[in-house]
Formats: sequence, structure tokens, C-alpha cells
Amino acid sequence: MEPIEDWRRSQYASEITTEDFESEVTVGGWIQDIRNLGGIAFIQLRDRTGVVQVTVIKKEHGKEFFKKITSLPRETVIMVKGKVQPNEQVASGFEVLPKEMKVLGMANTPLPLGVVDKVDADMDTRLDARFIDLRKEEVAAVFKIRSTILSAVREVFESEGFIEVHTPKIVATATEGGTALFEASYFEKKAYLNQSPQLYKQMLMATGFDRVYEIGPAFRAEEHDTTRHLNEFTSIDIEIAFSDEEDAMGVLERCVYNAILRTREKNEKEMRILGADMDIPALPLQRITYSECLDMIKEGGFEMEWGEDFPMEAMKILGEKVPDFFFITKWPTKSKPFYTQPYEDKPEVCRGFDLQYKEKEITSGAQRVHDVELLKKRLEEQGLNPSEFTFYLDAFEYGMPPHAGWGLGAERLTMILTGMQNIRECVLFPRDRKRLVP
Ligand code: ATP
Ligand code: MG
Repeated sequence: MEPIEDWRRSQYASEITTEDFESEVTVGGWIQDIRNLGGIAFIQLRDRTGVVQVTVIKKEHGKEFFKKITSLPRETVIMVKGKVQPNEQVASGFEVLPKEMKVLGMANTPLPLGVVDKVDADMDTRLDARFIDLRKEEVAAVFKIRSTILSAVREVFESEGFIEVHTPKIVATATEGGTALFEASYFEKKAYLNQSPQLYKQMLMATGFDRVYEIGPAFRAEEHDTTRHLNEFTSIDIEIAFSDEEDAMGVLERCVYNAILRTREKNEKEMRILGADMDIPALPLQRITYSECLDMIKEGGFEMEWGEDFPMEAMKILGEKVPDFFFITKWPTKSKPFYTQPYEDKPEVCRGFDLQYKEKEITSGAQRVHDVELLKKRLEEQGLNPSEFTFYLDAFEYGMPPHAGWGLGAERLTMILTGMQNIRECVLFPRDRKRLVP
């Protein structure tokens, strides 16, 4: 292996144009394939933008150089300095004739996973060798789109006056009870990994920060093993003061809108590779009440009681009857967490909402309870002990404005925009019921 010294790429594969014809470039990447015809060899060199063909001719480049380059195992990392020459035979319309080469990172054989092989490896094999799996353009495409989505939501937050915050992930109490938490030992105390920044972002509403967002990890020790749950996911959270649930829904639909808009602008190539297509939705997104949803579900032949959360079977019926993105509003109070504000004139119904894409939930949000007496009552009604929430309740005792917010799963939104069927495709190193490594 050779040191890189002062060698740097002059451009990525896809940045080479007709303007570079006859001039010298420096390219670098992974050897995707070598076709050796004896006197001439074609090397496909891949970087994150695409593939460039390096053509080696034995007579011209010398026996030794020819042998050295053609005997390198696939996926070895090299850099090549050479001249760009037009060649109609090559898909890109040109090839690079090497003058010098550096071998920077040898690849062992056999590879744990093929990069361009036609055989579809199963999910476990792929995840075990994720560092290679991510070399595939269709796998990498998901993460390029995910990056665009996250920058698009940040763009909305920045333009709407939000402050970015980070709240603790090691905590002493469950956010909502109910959901299983991962335990951690915290010196002589027991601690948990936070399932959501809910309580902390609400406490920040008592500070005058007014509009906060957090993009960070959330941990759920749920035993489920589904295609839309992870045990660690990235949560995009907001909380806004002097606001109700309608204001929070407004911010959310602008985030979704901008994420789709920017993905269409920046990731046309990735969308094509994935065969994904997503129209920019018209705003405002439709709001459908829980009771209206229940009627549609019953019309679809599924029986359930007012007050329950919709099981997947019910959601599927609903997903077929409604537009792609829609809000479900006016939920039964008992179906939502204790911090959800009930309607003042109809306390069995609350100001909670979900954003759905067909049958998939992507966000839950609400106007929150900010009256501390009501909050204590709601905790008790849900079987929780207010004395365990003192640190949180205290923040409501000294001037807490009305506020609202939501939590949006980054992987769920990425799934929808990329058309992926399994949420594990949308996270680099998934944590699920069976997987803790890599
Ligand atoms: P679900 O009913 O789909 O299990 P939830 O209602 O338990 O979700 P919330 O507590 O409302 O989830 O979390 C807010 C958002 O965070 C969800 O709408 C979803 O986008 C995302 N989310 C929640 N749990 C998970 C998970 N286990 N894996 C991935 N994303 C999740
Ligand atoms: Mg929810």
C-alpha cells in the first residue's frame, strides 16, 4: 500500500465533462470490475457519484504496470492520474488512460458481499456487511435522500425562527409510562434511555425560548419486530409556545412539503435509481377527525369501538380511502398521552393529531396541557404517579404559556419518500429486536 502524499481528486467521476478531454485528471475510488482481454484491460472505478472507466493498454503502459493494475482484487481503493480521452464505445463517452497509479487500500478476497452482483442478498447478510452494502448505488441513494430531508426540515425551522436544542438522553423517569425503556446504570442510580424529548421540550416552553426543535435519537425497548419499528430511531421534534395544535400542524405540513420539494430538486438521480416518485402535496393537507375515520373504517367492514387506537387492519382500510398525506384530528382523550390537551367544552375529545401517509403513522402531536392541576389529574387518570414527575411539573408552576408540538420519525418519512418497504433500509446501522452489531 502506498501513502497518499499530495495526491487529491481533481474531480468525481460524474464531474468529468467534454471540457476535460485531452487534459489530465486525478480520480480515485473502488475497483468495481476489471475486464482483462490480454493486451488491453478495462477497469471500472467507482466513487460516490458514479463510475469512470480506466483503460490500460499493455503495449503502451508497459507489462509491469499492466500486471500490477489488473491483478488487484475487486473493491481495492486506488487513485489514478491520467488523460481523459473521448471514446464512443464507453457509456460515459470517455475513458481515462493512466499515467500513474497509487494503491491506497487493498481489498481481501472473497468479499463478504458483492457490490454489483445480480444476486439479491438477504437483509441479514447485507446488514452484517453494511460497509459494503452501502457501496451499492441503490442503497446509498436512500441516505442521500435522507440527508436532503433533514436539511429541508432544518431550512423550515431556521426560516421560522426556531432555536435548535439538545435534551438529555439519559433520564430518570419514563416519558409516558407504558412503553418499555432501556435501563442503564448511572453510577449508584438506575437510569433509562429516553424514549422521546417530550417532557424536556415542554419544560423549555417555560423559559421563553418559544420555538425549539431537536433532531436526535429516541430509544424504545419495544419487543415488536415489524418493518416500521426500530429500537433506536431519529426523532425530529418541535415545541412552540403561545400556540395550539393547528399552529403545530402548519409547521409540520410545511416541513413535509419542503422535504418533498427539495428531494425532487436535488435527488432526481437517486429517485430514478430507486424508482421512487412523490408528488408535491397541495397544502393545507386534509384534516379528518377520528370519528370520521371510524365511520370510514366501519364502512370498510371493520368493527371497532370509539376510543381505541386504530389497529393496523383498520389503518389499511383507511389508507385506501383517503389521500396520501392526511391528518387525523380530534382523538379520544383516553387514546392519547396524559400531556394532550382535552377540548375545553368536550373533555372526552382532545387536541391531539397524527399525520399519516396512507396506513403509516409518521407523526404524533398535540396542543399540550399547560394547567398544572389538570396535568396532575391526567397523570393519575393514566395510572402514573405525579410525584415521579416533580421535575417536570415544577416547570408548570411559575408561568407556563399554552404550547403545542410534535415528533416526526426521520426514518418513517425517509421510507415514504424513497418508497422503501422496510424501515431498516432507512437507517445506517439498524437496532432492532435481534440486532446490536454492527
Ligand atoms: P406507532 O404507533 O407507529 O408504533 P407511536 O404512536 O408509538 O408509533 P409516537 O410515540 O407517537 O409513536 O412517536 C412519534 C413518531 O416517532 C411516530 O409517529 C413515528 O414516526 C416515530 N416512531 C415512534 N416509534 C418508532 C419506532 N419504534 N421506530 C421508528 N420510528 C418510530
Ligand atoms: Mg403516535
